[in-house]
Amino acid sequence: MTTVLRGCDLVDGRGTEPRRGVDVVVEGDTVREIVEPGNGDYPSAEVVDAAGMLVIPGLINNHTHGTAYGPLFPSGHEPLPLQQVNANLDRHLLEGTTAVLCVDGFITAEAVARTDEAHPVNVKAASCNTPACLEAAIVADGGGLTEENKAFTARQAVAEGAVALGEIGAGHTLGGGGASYLYIPEEIARRTGVRVTAWQANQLKIAVLGRHITTSAFDRDAVEEALAGANLTGKLSVEDAREIVSGVVLPAFDIALRGLAEAAEQARELDVPVLVHNAAASMTQVAAIARTDVRLIAGHSNHPSFTPREALDHAAWLKERGVVIDVSILDTFGGGRPDLGPELLYAMFEAGLVDTISTDYAAGHHDPILLAIDRATKAGVVGLPAAIAMATSTVADTFPGLAPRRGRIVPGAVADLVVTDPAALDDVRTVMIGGRIVVREGRRVTG
Ligand SMILES: [Zn+2]
Repeated sequence: MTTVLRGCDLVDGRGTEPRRGVDVVVEGDTVREIVEPGNGDYPSAEVVDAAGMLVIPGLINNHTHGTAYGPLFPSGHEPLPLQQVNANLDRHLLEGTTAVLCVDGFITAEAVARTDEAHPVNVKAASCNTPACLEAAIVADGGGLTEENKAFTARQAVAEGAVALGEIGAGHTLGGGGASYLYIPEEIARRTGVRVTAWQANQLKIAVLGRHITTSAFDRDAVEEALAGANLTGKLSVEDAREIVSGVVLPAFDIALRGLAEAAEQARELDVPVLVHNAAASMTQVAAIARTDVRLIAGHSNHPSFTPREALDHAAWLKERGVVIDVSILDTFGGGRPDLGPELLYAMFEAGLVDTISTDYAAGHHDPILLAIDRATKAGVVGLPAAIAMATSTVADTFPGLAPRRGRIVPGAVADLVVTDPAALDDVRTVMIGGRIVVREGRRVTG
């Protein structure tokens, strides 16, 4: 079976300048050649008219949650229903992503294989099952962990196909986003019947424990203000709020911090990269790991818990020590969050700090990677070929087992291709995985 994407502009993932008006010829599951139009003769080929369209490699997303059947997050939360996992994968696919690294961390190899089989997106796993990370998960949540999940150690996971350790530490065990959008609102609702937003919970968290999560940061006036902002005045006292936030965040926190060093040591032994939760609360530990010789990926280095200056300086320091600097799109563009706009992301691009681009989860509301690339290139803070490489070839090179022979459109590569509108990059039209068209006209092909 031969398919020709005809007359497209091509950004091939290697970071080099676009080629205009070429044909991409796919044979079986492989890119066979890239030719000037009319220079190849493929009488029996299926021709996809891609004139005026942009072809890029399928994106490889190194930071996803809820993309495999099993406990959600590195806190071992109750699994999402299978349909929701499939819907999450559909969404990644329709956004142009053809391979994902699920960093939930406790999913068995068998469950990852089952997910991978059920959906065209290639799903690989990272494991966070080291003793301290497991303990932190059980203290923070652990509600979705079966005995099998608990017993499935990082060592075993790597032996059975996990390509990295990660996410080590997470918003759910390190007092980050997961505490703000999940556990703090749950506990407040249980006590008061009031459902606070993630933003309100986050304000309360910062008032009680600060951005770096320390008990000495407690600020009574700020707690009162946060309670008023969440319509909780009279329903919760300052001491109640302090107890709730501390009770959610602190028990797992120190254990999870210990887990960072422990997991880095195991990753070094197992010879796989380790992806860590890089945020204000964990930055000291992340810096300590950067001094060792493990292959380290600093996940979501644009985390909103950092001040912009702090994020930029920290990322520059890490990068000098060979750490891969990942940025996560989160809900930067569509979330309307007061604490998260594109400024820091843009500043990191402009400073040349970014190595890889992922989405992370953002309570299930992440924006498409291609939307971020569209906006960032239009803002002039990064060039298109460089930005596409950050979401394709660099990710494949950083995680060698994640997407072998993928991430570049060159002869001999696996044909994971995206056809999109150059004027609106997130308007993905066609997606091909392993030479098979799985999205046409922006819709998932079924059957
Ligand atoms: Zn995280």
